[in-house]
Amino acid sequence: MDHFIYRDGILHAEDVALPEIAASVGTPFYVYSTATLERHYQVFDEALVGMDHFICYAMKANSNMAVLRIMAAMGAGMDVVSGGEYARAIAAGVPGEHIVFSGVGKTREEMTLALNGGIRQFNVESEPELRVLNEVALGLGKVAPITVRVNPDVDAKTHAKIATGKSDNKFGIPISKARAVYAEAGAMDGIEVVGIDVHIGSQLTDLAPYEAAFKMVAELTEQLREDGHNIRRLDLGGGLGIPYARSNEAPPLPMEYGEVIRNTVGHLGCEIEIEPGRLIAGNSGILVTSVIYRKEGEGRDFLIVDAAMNDLIRPAMYEAHHDIIPVVEAQAGLEPAPHDIVGPICESGDTFAQQRNIPPMDAGDLVAFRSAGAYGAVMSSEYNSRPLIPEVLVNGDQFAVVRARPTYEEMINRDTIPDWMD
Ligand SMILES: *Cc1c(COP(=O)(O)O)cnc(C)c1O
Repeated sequence: MDHFIYRDGILHAEDVALPEIAASVGTPFYVYSTATLERHYQVFDEALVGMDHFICYAMKANSNMAVLRIMAAMGAGMDVVSGGEYARAIAAGVPGEHIVFSGVGKTREEMTLALNGGIRQFNVESEPELRVLNEVALGLGKVAPITVRVNPDVDAKTHAKIATGKSDNKFGIPISKARAVYAEAGAMDGIEVVGIDVHIGSQLTDLAPYEAAFKMVAELTEQLREDGHNIRRLDLGGGLGIPYARSNEAPPLPMEYGEVIRNTVGHLGCEIEIEPGRLIAGNSGILVTSVIYRKEGEGRDFLIVDAAMNDLIRPAMYEAHHDIIPVVEAQAGLEPAPHDIVGPICESGDTFAQQRNIPPMDAGDLVAFRSAGAYGAVMSSEYNSRPLIPEVLVNGDQFAVVRARPTYEEMINRDTIPDWMD
């Protein structure tokens, strides 16, 4: 469910008409709905009701400071994967004790930052990382709370670039080696074992891989407890998929995902932690762009829009589908026709959709790409020297720019010229 709806034929974000935002900030831009972000957090909270649980928003999906403030106000913790994300969480007012640090390549500097600033747990992904974390913690006179991220070798049945739970992925420790790694961790003075972590991938549209992975985590919990470890927290990761093509996709609901959690690990008396990113932010945002030209090719018509792959890379990178809809609804009787919808960048990969049926449109018309709130703005770049596009937040009938578009001058002045060139 989201809050992007047509009213009198004009697409709105909550109570704000999108042409009004376009007139104020120019196109292209991202726009996020506060009500949708809040709703998606609540849906997870309700799915886990009755279990001791904590929701850590995976901010790599959308780490705009205003979005983080909304999540923090809802009571969410944060899952971070870099020192920069840790700093954002702290700046958004999230206490260190609500921040979980994930990622395969944490540096000593990042560990130090989090140990000094406070941390709920590190999700450790390798033995070398465990040993370095122990050293860093001892050096600071601290004890690092950890889980070990186990790799259950299950196929998440998602796009290869975002599957993380197979043994040939770089993530986690093979579950068969877990007991040995926990034994090593248990003997370290700078480490405190608090639980187990698993995250098998992103955009999962089937619950079976979750069920398989969580069952293995339940078994491991019992084994590790027998080995004398105090396993009291299970971090089950994120990854629940969203409907990108609304006409024919119906991924499992958070409620059903919650049932799988209850049925697989609910009996263990552990605190359940989850790390959703995409499901919270994805359908809370859209990208609005305008048509620059409609170009008739040979056997194929193109809509050239002012957004490009540098603004939204998902179609180019993951062959991802985004529903593309007109901001002003087509008049009755105008038949949709197939178009390739492309950006202005000098690569054929800069294609958002091929042969997509879309109502007749012309230069200046506004178009919205749905489901663009996650892995959209955060993955954007200034390729082709196209300034980062603005992000706008709507709340009821109000809207505000939450990241401004840099001017050409600001963009250029980020580069510096060495003295010897003067
Ligand atoms: C990316 C990631 C998530 C969030 O995944 P979504 O598909 O956005 O829910 C959660 N945990 C970890 C460790 C991740 O790397």
